[in-house]
Amino acid sequence: MLSMSSETGSLLNGKALAKKIQGELKKTVETLQSQIGRPPGLAVIMVGDNPASAVYVRNKEKSCAKVGIASFGRHLPTEISQAEVEALIHQLNEDERVDGILVQLPLPAHLDTVSLLHAIAPDKDADGLHPMNLGHLIRGEEGLRSCTPWGVMRLLEEYNLDVAGKHAVVVGRSILVGKPLALMLLEKNATVSIAHSRTPDLGAMTRQGDIVIAAVGKPNLITAEMVKPGAIAIDVGINRIITSEGASKLVGDFDFESVAQVSRYITPVPGGVGPMTVAMLLQNTVLSYQKNNL
Ligand code: NAD
Repeated sequence: MLSMSSETGSLLNGKALAKKIQGELKKTVETLQSQIGRPPGLAVIMVGDNPASAVYVRNKEKSCAKVGIASFGRHLPTEISQAEVEALIHQLNEDERVDGILVQLPLPAHLDTVSLLHAIAPDKDADGLHPMNLGHLIRGEEGLRSCTPWGVMRLLEEYNLDVAGKHAVVVGRSILVGKPLALMLLEKNATVSIAHSRTPDLGAMTRQGDIVIAAVGKPNLITAEMVKPGAIAIDVGINRIITSEGASKLVGDFDFESVAQVSRYITPVPGGVGPMTVAMLLQNTVLSYQKNNL
């Protein structure tokens, strides 16, 4: 368990936990590689030149290298056709060196994201977004889990923050974060509410939460008055803002300074949920490697 200090605003340190998980995965990979005869492989498909996506992809590939996962990444031109990306996915589905495939989102508008995600073989679905894996999650069955929500659950677990019987308020209902996270919390016996863009009084809802998780993408959306004293605040949001001094800065969806004064625990941005997402991606790749080869 990682250590905590004060009574309010203790940080849930995703960066430290992600490092620990990577260390454990590195050892697992070293052991398995001699039995399987090759390292695990992850293929990250990126289309176009979205600068944020380029940073994420580079981080993922660097993290792969640290734990001994081979990268089979493909960077494709913006104008590539749907059929060409699909053909590449089918080729990677058949490639025995590849255990995980991930399509970096968002994709250029002319590509149909959903049908590309469906093309990935469910047992290589490193992001856990294939309907088969989401279906397993709904049924509480084993399967590859979506990385960001799974990273949130793993972070809570590391700090011994049992969610059973707690009221968790998830703000955001995307298929990437909000919905699968609500299901994972439910699986662990939390009472779950989901708020979204049409929720009339967001504060009234978040104030009920023993755990409030924001996955929206709006800086300072959730302020101290909207959080119950002693709650756990988990910030999934990543927003780039320009400060009054003109500097560029990453912030989450919580007004961190004020919410840290009332919450018992809070995740920083950066250094909270973000690194956990990458750690769980590596974890999924190693799980597929193990499951499909032993
Ligand atoms: P999305 O745009 O698909 O979904 C946003 C959700 O927020 C929607 O469900 C919408 O209903 C809700 N919403 C919008 N305005 C709202 C409001 N005023 N009040 C309440 N709810 C509102 O986004 P997403 O893909 O789920 O990502 C959400 C955020 O999380 C983004 O900032 C994204 O960058 C970040 N993110 C971070 C990680 C990570 O690893 N930390 C991973 C994925 C996404």
